[in-house]
Amino acid sequence: MGNLIGAVENWVKLQDQGECYFFIADYHALTTAYADTKALKEDIKQVALDLLSAGLDPDKCVLFKQSDVPEHAELHLLFSMITPLSWLERVPSYKGKIAELKEKDLGTYGFLGYPVLQAADILIYKATHVPVGEDQLPHLELTREIARRFNYLYKAIFPEPQGDLTAFPVLPGLDGRKMSKSYQNTIAISDPPATVRKKVGSMVTDPERIKRDDKGHPDICPVYAYYRIFAGSQLNKAAAECQAATRGCVECKKELAGSLVDYLAPLHARRAKLEKDHHGVEKILAAGAQKAREAAARTLLEAKKEVGLA
Ligand code: SF4
Repeated sequence: MGNLIGAVENWVKLQDQGECYFFIADYHALTTAYADTKALKEDIKQVALDLLSAGLDPDKCVLFKQSDVPEHAELHLLFSMITPLSWLERVPSYKGKIAELKEKDLGTYGFLGYPVLQAADILIYKATHVPVGEDQLPHLELTREIARRFNYLYKAIFPEPQGDLTAFPVLPGLDGRKMSKSYQNTIAISDPPATVRKKVGSMVTDPERIKRDDKGHPDICPVYAYYRIFAGSQLNKAAAECQAATRGCVECKKELAGSLVDYLAPLHARRAKLEKDHHGVEKILAAGAQKAREAAARTLLEAKKEVGLA
């Protein structure tokens, strides 16, 4: 849900505003999950279902699976020839992620080169705008530097893409930390209502409110962070009742769970429809890959010609 609120809802709006390419980053998934790929195929299908049920429309945007467009990998190879190691080592998320996922061996070329593949993902479509969160800005800056270096060494064929920074609301995880699968504190948009209710019931609340008649502090309560997005006109009432201790955390969570279930209901209905068509998702991704490859092959050929390979 964090990804839905923080990114995908914005993508759904963007598909009405311009030519958009969205892909399921399965090559990128391998950079951290290379050792165990048993669930990869099913994960790809589930991500596609999430995106489609959230409102990405294959008639309005190009939706595909990254590895179905091998031009991404080939442009990545060309870019890897011109990208200094020092640029990659200074990307802030590089050391941070290694520390966060210390149970995995991330001392691989693929993990270090992740931002180079990202540059290829963007520049293969000559994208001019990329919707990003603030934490992704250093990666986008690297994409701009790689484009600049290619343009300087060979010919100016790549635009320097701009980041579209939208003030995305941030949903905390169930334990109050950043919502992340690695922390197992997520609410999935495919979670059935009973699971959503159970998960919301387990959420941490204001740590200073120990007893029912203690006055609460909504500003430090993760549950209230959800209210800011889902409570609508009830937001101020909920805060006032919490501060006056006239609202208990159990009822507060029940009310939130009800709002989330209502919010997810149309997404679940769309998902159920998609799941009925047995090969529907595969067909959508295959058609998207075909469209993406036309654009990607043009750019790759142009780049290879400038390098002297074609
Ligand atoms: S009443 Fe609601 S907002 Fe207040 S502390 Fe409890 S869960 Fe949080």
